[in-house]
Amino acid sequence: MTAHHRTAAWAAVTRVQRPRIEATLPRPCADCGRPVTPGQKWQVAHLTPVSIAKRLGWSVQQINDPSNLGASHTKAKGQKACNQIAGGKLGAAATNRKRQTDKNMPSW
Ligand SMILES: [Zn+2]
Repeated sequence: MTAHHRTAAWAAVTRVQRPRIEATLPRPCADCGRPVTPGQKWQVAHLTPVSIAKRLGWSVQQINDPSNLGASHTKAKGQKACNQIAGGKLGAAATNRKRQTDKNMPSW
């Protein structure tokens, strides 16, 4: 979970947007693309991930805009935790980019 997802602002967004998104189920999972159906466990998810949106210079309002929100499967019996897996992959990619940058630093 990123710092963005620990803010009171994000909690408020999910409180408001969850019922709106729930009314649109079934809809494709924001991360795996398979349907999120009523009765499955899911989380409010960003369609453009926060880390990518920030690199693109999006504001918090743009990142949390309803047009950038959808549903993503979350951990449950017989179900992958798509949102957490996607977040983990992005985090690993960021760490690997940083390592590569560090390797390119002069050694003096
Ligand atoms: Zn999924």
